[in-house]
Amino acid sequence: MFAPEFEYHRANTVAEAIDLLSSNPGAKVMAGGHSLIPLLKLRLARPGVVVDIGGVAEMKGITIADGNIRIGALTTHWEIESSSQVAEANSLLAEAAGGIGDTQVRNRGTIGGNLSHADPASDWGTVLTALNATLEIRGPGGATRTASPTDFIVGPLTTTLGETEILTAVNVPVLAANQRAEYAKMAHPASGYAVVGAAVVVNVDGHTCTGASLAVGGAVPAPVRLTSVENALTGKELTFENIEAATAQADNDLGGEILGDFFASAEYRRAMAAVETKHALFHATEVAHH
Ligand SMILES: Cc1cc2nc3c(=O)[nH]c(=O)nc-3n(C[C@H](O)[C@H](O)[C@H](O)COP(=O)(O)OP(=O)(O)OC[C@H]3O[C@@H](n4cnc5c(N)ncnc54)[C@H](O)[C@@H]3O)c2cc1C
Repeated sequence: MFAPEFEYHRANTVAEAIDLLSSNPGAKVMAGGHSLIPLLKLRLARPGVVVDIGGVAEMKGITIADGNIRIGALTTHWEIESSSQVAEANSLLAEAAGGIGDTQVRNRGTIGGNLSHADPASDWGTVLTALNATLEIRGPGGATRTASPTDFIVGPLTTTLGETEILTAVNVPVLAANQRAEYAKMAHPASGYAVVGAAVVVNVDGHTCTGASLAVGGAVPAPVRLTSVENALTGKELTFENIEAATAQADNDLGGEILGDFFASAEYRRAMAAVETKHALFHATEVAHH
């Protein structure tokens, strides 16, 4: 199906894009177009104006300094996946980027577009929640604000982004020497999207867990932190039995609304949330398992 007619504008700066959004109520920005174009073609979105931000140079690229990785919102998954500096500073970012969709999707799709689209099955929301990322947002009149991924993504295709705001960058801490991180997902065979995905960051002192940040996505409308599992693991030795016992608590944190469809029922996804979390923890901590 063809997209409905719309006016096309190209912005060269963030300020120009925000001006265009402000003067055209209902307008949508386009980054890689990998989610917006299908929505237009399916007539699920009908903006009168599309503002192409693909050429906004200030929203591109990766800078690593003072323990922080700043990723411009227009940076593609492939740029993150293929950066040797990112792989060294935070292996979880490189791993997650490399598992998104296929080569075409990774070459065109952007981290900012992915987060702003807020597909429950997307990988970045889950991974950036576990990594305690901070999102940078700009609005009219030079206004700036920050948000955590869980403040930003509130439900399927729903964020707290205002109509005239733009997500400009994502900040992620460099992993410390005592942190182990991993992402495990049950990928949909057709798209690679997460049916269930679990991201884990574990602080270790020898074989003991001294803190953990764990998140699950895909199974739930928006990524969630597994605080019950984090608490059950903290202070414990990282053994097969302790990881099994802690992840059995994952259900406490998923909330009442588990997603289900003809591919994977809610009951199955609920069970897989604990399985993928366990899987990620075993790999991150190199605990032998079978
Ligand atoms: C076949 C296929 C397989 C995929 N597989 C996966 C997968 O395995 N894992 C995964 O995580 N994702 C997957 N994706 C999604 C993909 O990773 C893209 O990141 C995603 O489609 C959106 O990114 P985009 O840059 O194309 O955004 P666009 O399509 O341009 O925009 C998406 C939405 O976000 C808004 N937007 C975009 N950028 C901004 C911004 N900076 N500020 C404010 N609003 C903005 C747009 O207005 C639009 O509403 C897949 C997509 C396809 C088509």
